[in-house]
Amino acid sequence: MGKQFKHMETAMIHEGYDSKALLGSLTPPLFQTSTFTFDTAEQGAARFAGEEEGHVYTRVSNPTVQILEQKLAALEKAEKGLAFASGMAAISAVLIALTKANDHIICSSGLYGCTYGLLSMMDEKYNIQTDYVAMTDAQSIEDNIRPETKVIYIETPINPTMEVIDLELVIGIAKKHDILVVVDNTFSTPYLQRPLELGADVVVHSATKYLSGHGDVIAGLAAGEQTLIDQIAATTQKDIGGVLSPFDAWLVIRGLKTLPLRMDRHAENASQIAEKLKQHSQVKQVFYPGDPENSGYAIMKKQMKSGGGTLSFEIKGGKAEAQAFLNKLELIKIAVSLGDTETLIQHPATMTHAVIPDEQRQKMGVTDTLVRLSVGIEGWQDLWEDLNQALT
Ligand SMILES: *Cc1c(COP(=O)(O)O)cnc(C)c1O
Repeated sequence: MGKQFKHMETAMIHEGYDSKALLGSLTPPLFQTSTFTFDTAEQGAARFAGEEEGHVYTRVSNPTVQILEQKLAALEKAEKGLAFASGMAAISAVLIALTKANDHIICSSGLYGCTYGLLSMMDEKYNIQTDYVAMTDAQSIEDNIRPETKVIYIETPINPTMEVIDLELVIGIAKKHDILVVVDNTFSTPYLQRPLELGADVVVHSATKYLSGHGDVIAGLAAGEQTLIDQIAATTQKDIGGVLSPFDAWLVIRGLKTLPLRMDRHAENASQIAEKLKQHSQVKQVFYPGDPENSGYAIMKKQMKSGGGTLSFEIKGGKAEAQAFLNKLELIKIAVSLGDTETLIQHPATMTHAVIPDEQRQKMGVTDTLVRLSVGIEGWQDLWEDLNQALT
């Protein structure tokens, strides 16, 4: 494909698709098929041998899925993108492909609960150990590097504490030691932050969240340099097989068209709500990277377009008070997931991060009174009214 649009807003809509090539269909057609017929036995053989371009089977490639993969690659400034059945399918395919038994991983001090579960399983099964490091300064990272360190895995902002990690700092150290950097870019999306441009090797996404944006699909994506992505495609994607269905790819393509509009509104609403929460007597602390008083604000300004649409906050009291607060909300829905048009709230300690052992979870800052709010694109005054009545 390779047509590069100057503005990301244009690329979100037009990249990876030429309507002229497909009967003038304005929107990309849905190729809902499991397999592709060959004209002759020889043609089938040539496609399997890689001597002739073309699709053979949807677990290997599909035209609708490919449009999404090309879009993501263009948006992330990657050579190649790959689509998966979920964010976890993408993350597990990437991490398993890039490591072997007895390797070592350095990970940000906080991360999505199921990714923590995956890393624990890789340790148990293959002795691939992970150290969780705050990454606030160069020394803290250098001190944890071993000869067998293969990957530095980062989430920024970190789910759900919203800490921001300096990508330039981490990538600089990784390059010096020939270590691959994988960034989970789910919270930012390429509209706000592009880690590959800063030198990261692979980005992964839960496209379930902002990229699709409407709470109607589970999907994952990965993007990076051609050789790495080809390796992932040929091994852990093809043979473990967590590929995206064409219909789900079609939904993500549709969602992507409005990503810039949605992200701007999510961020605007989140800024307003963060400001209000900070002034409320029942709120202990607010964590939002777009808040000028947030400790990560300067780094956010350096590497992100805005603070994004998700924030978290601690309310006064204990777990019972946090749960009672959630139960009193009327407009805002109690649900995990984020990045939807609807505002969603959840209690990480007992929901998304419940799998992390207590002590490790506390160390990550996921306390019993922390709640995560994915601010939707409704009128923010209505959201605040609901939060305020539930807090009081
Ligand atoms: C939701 C999420 C995932 C997992 O994605 P699924 O699509 O649910 O598999 C991974 N990383 C982050 C940061 C997430 O928020």
